[in-house]
Amino acid sequence: MTPITKQAGAITARVPAKINLQLSVGPLRSDGYHDLVSVFHAVSLFDEVTVSPADRTTVVVSGEGIADVPLGPSNLAVKAVAALAKATGRRGRGTSAVRIEIRKRIPVAAGLAGGSADAAAALVACNELWGSRCSGAELGEIGAQLGSDVPFALVGGTAVGIGRGEQLTRALVSGSYQWVLAFGATGLATTDVYAACDRLRSARADGGEAPVKAPALSTELMAALRSGDPAAVGPLLTNDLQPAALSLQPLLRRALAAGREHGALGAVVSGSGPTCAFLAEDADAASDLAVAITGAGVCRAVVQVSGPVPGASLVDPVAAT
Ligand code: ATP
Repeated sequence: MTPITKQAGAITARVPAKINLQLSVGPLRSDGYHDLVSVFHAVSLFDEVTVSPADRTTVVVSGEGIADVPLGPSNLAVKAVAALAKATGRRGRGTSAVRIEIRKRIPVAAGLAGGSADAAAALVACNELWGSRCSGAELGEIGAQLGSDVPFALVGGTAVGIGRGEQLTRALVSGSYQWVLAFGATGLATTDVYAACDRLRSARADGGEAPVKAPALSTELMAALRSGDPAAVGPLLTNDLQPAALSLQPLLRRALAAGREHGALGAVVSGSGPTCAFLAEDADAASDLAVAITGAGVCRAVVQVSGPVPGASLVDPVAAT
């Protein structure tokens, strides 16, 4: 692993993972996409991205799952830097080159939008480094071209996403929620999970089931989030991709069951998985749940987090030392 060093003139942003409290997936469209309704919730598991001026753009990654993170132009943070440079008219050799250092705590290909998070952090950090003065809305527009989860990683909190998930409206939420996240042994590629979802649905349609409807926001979930009562929120967590994720990683069934057995108020696969999110009554209950799920031996690692938390933001270099 390449060591990460502190550099003069460097700007750091940190950015949270997301989980989905609701993920409703519409029928397959003719262009290969699905209309979504997603309730995003940012949780306190953060990646950090540091950018500093350089002669050419390079990426260094440390931390969780680094073997699966590309170091070239397909890295989403690199794409974000290039997109911001283009949008702000920074051209010419050297003017938009940066060294990008990514410290990953968000597992890769885990349904937690870690790559999108790094893109959002790179946008915020380079906006500051270059004095570009793009507004949050402008960064959101640039981010939406990079990936549908990038706009949410910029704003954080809890928000409803429609379209491909990139058209956001802030959700009204009371209080803070305590979660346990259980990470799978291996990742799941989002495209594989959508393909499995389509296969399962077409098999069900062949068996005479009614066609899949257009996705709709759960008004019950919205009311429960406004109430601030985790016991009301827990049973309303849903994910249309869960059956597909379970078909690809059957061990996830045991992870979800272990969480429910040990007192989780709700248990759901996040996004395309394989991370499972368990809602607890409070921080003490979440600690107990984390210990119990670890003991059940059905996942690679467990972390305790809370949400909602804000989106990508600059790290104060003085406070960080
Ligand atoms: P999605 O956002 O599609 O739901 P995910 O949250 O499940 O995906 P990510 O951690 O975003 O998963 O990784 C998806 C893929 O994106 C990885 O397999 C990796 O090859 C690629 N990728 C590109 N840039 C990054 C990055 N900075 N960090 C992690 N993965 C990245």
